Parts: sequence; C-alpha cells; structure tokens
Amino acid sequence: MAEFRTTVLLGMLAALMVVAAPVAAQDPPAPVEAAVYLSLFDDADLRGIEKPDDEIYDLFVAITGDATLDARIRLAAEARGYVRRPVATAGLVGVDGRRLQAPAAEAWTAMKAAAAVDGISLMLTSAYRDLADQRAVFRSRLGGGTTDAAIDRALRTSAPPGYSKHHSGYAVDIGEVGASDAGFVNTRAYRWLSEFDFARARLFGFIPSYPVGGERMGPDPEAWEFVWVGPGRIGCATGAAPVAGFCDVLLEPRAADIEWLADIGVTVGCAPGRFCPDDPVTRGEAASALWRLHGAPATDGHAPFVDVYDSDHFRAAVDWLWANGVVTGTTGETFSPDDFLTPRDAFAMALRLQAFDDRPPATGLPAPSDGLFDRPAVVAEVGDLGAHIDRAEFASVLRAAASPGGS
Ligand SMILES: [Zn+2]
Repeated sequence: MAEFRTTVLLGMLAALMVVAAPVAAQDPPAPVEAAVYLSLFDDADLRGIEKPDDEIYDLFVAITGDATLDARIRLAAEARGYVRRPVATAGLVGVDGRRLQAPAAEAWTAMKAAAAVDGISLMLTSAYRDLADQRAVFRSRLGGGTTDAAIDRALRTSAPPGYSKHHSGYAVDIGEVGASDAGFVNTRAYRWLSEFDFARARLFGFIPSYPVGGERMGPDPEAWEFVWVGPGRIGCATGAAPVAGFCDVLLEPRAADIEWLADIGVTVGCAPGRFCPDDPVTRGEAASALWRLHGAPATDGHAPFVDVYDSDHFRAAVDWLWANGVVTGTTGETFSPDDFLTPRDAFAMALRLQAFDDRPPATGLPAPSDGLFDRPAVVAEVGDLGAHIDRAEFASVLRAAASPGGS
C-alpha cells in the first residue's frame, strides 16, 4: 500500500511541480493564506473525534488541580488564541511506536517513504496525546510556577490539557534524525516538506499547523507540527480542478477509479461537489454500490434482517444481494448497515458478485472462499488495504472486481 501510494504520488508531485513552477518571474503561484490553512483543520469535520462541551472541560479536565490557578491558565491560554480541541473517540492505530487516526497514519507512512526516496529521514516525534499526557507536558513546562510570567512562558511551548491539536490524533510533530525541534526549520526535512508552498506535505494531506502569517494561534509557531486533513479537503479549499464533478479527488491516488465509478453512474458524492475519499464506507452504502454496479436488478427476495427497513435506500440492494448469496448478515438476523465495511468484507462481497456473474445459469452459487476466486489478482491490483477501507479504496475494489486482470 505504501509503495503503491508512493509511486502514484511521486508521479503526481512531478505533475504538480510543473504547475507550481512559475512560468514567468512576475507570475508566481499564489501561496495558500494562513487563514485558509487554519480553517482547513478547524472546520474539517474529521472522523473519530468529538469536542466535549466547555463545561465538561472546566469540570473534569484539571490542569494543576488548583481551581483558581487553572482558571487563570485557561484565560491566559485563550488570550493567546488557544481553543478547546476535539479529542479522539475512535479510530486510533499504532504507527512508529505512537498512535494516530488511521488515515493520518497511512498518509504519514506513505510520506515518510516518499521522503526516504529523496534521501530524507522523517521521524515522528509526537502524535496522539490524551488529556493526561498533555497535562504532564504542560505541568512540566510550568515547573510549579504560579506567576503570570511563568504561565505565559509555559503557554509559549505547550497547550494546557484540552487545548492541544494532538488530542485529535491528526497532529504530528515531525523531526529529522539528529535535529532539535528548535532547529527544525533549517533541516533538509523541513525544506523537503515546505518547498513549493508545502506541495509535498499537501499531496499526502498534511498542512502546517502554525502557518507563516498566522496570528494568535496559541503557542509560538512550531514549524515541526503538521496536521492531517486529507488531500481532498486541501484541494477543495485551494481551487483544485474538479474530477468527475468532485473538488476533493484531484490529488487522490485513486482518482481514476472514482472517475470510472462516476462515469458508469454508480457513485454519488457524500455532499454536493464532494466525494469524501477518506470517509469510511458503511455496509449499507457498499450494498447499494454493488447492486447498482450490477444494474440494480429487481428481486422477489426479502432479506431477513431486522435492522434493514423498507424506507432504507439500500433495501432493494440488500434484498437482491442476499437472495443471490452475495451478502450475508453480521448475524442471522442483522445486517448492521451502519457498521463500517471491513476490507475483508469488501473483497468478499465484490468477489462473490463476480462469481455470481460467472456461474452458469441456475446452478446455484458456490460457497465463497478466498481460494475459489481470483482474490490475489484483485488484491494485487487494489493494494493491501490494512485494517480499514475508505470510499476511494472501495472504488478501487469495485473497479478491480468488475474488470479482473486489468483496467
Ligand atoms: Zn506538536
């Protein structure tokens, strides 16, 4: 997977460089404004995170344990521009000995591999931090101080618990072997990331957390901190050319598969003008897509699932797929349409549909098993998806399954 992305993305980077390189000295590309970068993360609506009410933070997220001192710290923090941040509620995975949200972890691994190709050793110096981790960091910076000066000194380098972007699992602190945070702006790693207005970082969905020109952002600017928002959101915010009518697909490595789906009329976006390539796929959505891929046939079958209702847009899809052995329930009585699709189920569904298409009429469907169909070929074409599958990856699975052996 990392290798697949790296190859595709390096190709895209080459294309982007051509665009980014000014053709005439008086005609440089317009840099992305700090406010755009900041709102890209603040308004991203990323999955797996939730922002508790301010009252909850005030009541339950102690900083020093001294309520009066904590209130002063919060006031001083908010005066510097710190805001209460959402915390991860789901989706964290392990990467390089730390934890990140799954799409950020995947992007980090791919970006690190791309940097390595250029001889740059990126390293993850911090990633997800929970409230307790952040409390420990902040208190060590405060060092027992209680004066306004001591509070401000700590706030210059550390968020109080509840105010850190690291709580989300989408923020990374990046280092280069042998360099300190303070010296990071002078490293080859920083140059690699920031060149061409952060073109390389942006290809992988990362943007600077403290962009140049940003004001009142909380701490003193930290060049080493990046946040992942996904290439799609960056594309929509920076005027990327639409692909198949979607502004968030251009830099997506699986853009061709999404375009293919849109061309045959199977997919609709997640919102007007957006495909949301990084969003998870629900089992209900997957059923609907598979059924439409097959021409949305009618059926007399009626799947026995108590959690699929007549009013669901995927009702007819589940009925037909179930009647033809393409989908099974999560139990005998449930389909769990709102659960996220797993890569395993995605491959299984797609391959059973393929087998259904290939069987001689009226012979019944063989029991699905990995060895029976051309699974290795499909997996090879799509890439190893790991533990999670998103909407873009599902487009690749559908395309590979619809045209085994090449597309
Ligand atoms: Zn950081």
